[in-house]
Amino acid sequence: MSAADFFNFFHLNLYIYLIYACLMDDTFTWERGPFEKCPRCLGQTFGLLGAGRDLITLRCTKCRYSYNEVLPKVDKACIYLDQFMFSTIFKIKAGGQAPPGHRDFYEELIPLLRRVVLLQQAILPHSDLHSNETIVFHDPRGLRDAYEDIGGDASLHNSDEIEMHQVLAFARAFRDGGEPLLTFTPDAILHGSRNGWLPDMRVSVNTDYSQFADGIRRSRDEGFAALKELVAAWTKEKPPFREILRRESQFGQHRRMALLSVIQRMVNIGTDGDSIGMINATLAPVWREFRMLYKFLGQGASEDVAMLRVSTFWDWPRLHEMPFNRIFAYLFAAFGRRVTMGQRKFTRGLMTDFRAIAAYAPYVDAMFVDRECALLLGEGELHRDLHYRARIYSYANKEEFLAYLRELEARATGEVRGYAGRIYGITSPP
Ligand SMILES: [Zn+2]
Repeated sequence: MSAADFFNFFHLNLYIYLIYACLMDDTFTWERGPFEKCPRCLGQTFGLLGAGRDLITLRCTKCRYSYNEVLPKVDKACIYLDQFMFSTIFKIKAGGQAPPGHRDFYEELIPLLRRVVLLQQAILPHSDLHSNETIVFHDPRGLRDAYEDIGGDASLHNSDEIEMHQVLAFARAFRDGGEPLLTFTPDAILHGSRNGWLPDMRVSVNTDYSQFADGIRRSRDEGFAALKELVAAWTKEKPPFREILRRESQFGQHRRMALLSVIQRMVNIGTDGDSIGMINATLAPVWREFRMLYKFLGQGASEDVAMLRVSTFWDWPRLHEMPFNRIFAYLFAAFGRRVTMGQRKFTRGLMTDFRAIAAYAPYVDAMFVDRECALLLGEGELHRDLHYRARIYSYANKEEFLAYLRELEARATGEVRGYAGRIYGITSPP
């Protein structure tokens, strides 16, 4: 069994393997090869016990002598892969075919991504927008494992949280004067640290999300139905890009309408006593945002004044600069223009893709997204007016994405390659 197989095997079923190994095989050791000469007992029995974050631990299988080495520092790029890419990789790994026309691409991509991740040059974090899609996928558990297997175990803040964080930064500037303070680096939106070495073996927590699938499917279908209505209206009215952008940027109006509808739901629930429904209503992002702003802007004021302050803030023209709103509104308007020009087809996940780009493009280093979305971002006004950190890739420039990953791979130093080989059993050309 090679070290890489060993690693995969561990990852798949650590506990069963360990119990089996301990019971059935008295040659089992916690340490693994390659074994070196032990500094204390001089046996060829000094192996890897474990690694992760910034340490590797080596131990002798015989005399138990052990020591830690500090792993070299790394600086990982943060790459967001769209849901469809994760699920395609998952399907290919499970024996399926690459999508037509992309076979060569995936043939190079899959091992390349793995090398880049294990050489500690990039993380491919998971997001709540993935989870929502994962849950409705036919094999949610398998796909979730695949995220962890392909991407390491990093995850991004929820898109709602990112939006809320930006709203708060703007509310502070609104209340106290000065500029909104926001930092556009991956670390600002990552859970945990970006630059720790991946553990040498990971145990997946197999949470079963299928119980939520119906609710998410339903809310996604509702969103899809609302979008279809809007598309029908655009088809008739044919509003120009600027007009759709103007409507979509009316932050205050949208927020008040959304808030009103949540309050209406609460009132209805109040009369029939549905406590789960009530909890859901209080979890609505607009309600949480309203409560936060009410406290933050209304300190010491009467109820009426506090509410008025929230409403005035929601109409603050500077909110047009808020990255999440701005990117989302532009994408939406560009999509609207396509519709007025005759495009009738769009995917069910379109709004999720827009949310992902609006939330993450300002912070991450690169994104691989749906081709249609990438093309929208390349259109005149979007190209000119939107500024964000991420390089955008899609099937439209997939060769460039491979080149970017090769460049990341080449950044790994000899020392990092040495440790990565030892810990994860990967070999990579220097
Ligand atoms: Zn020893």
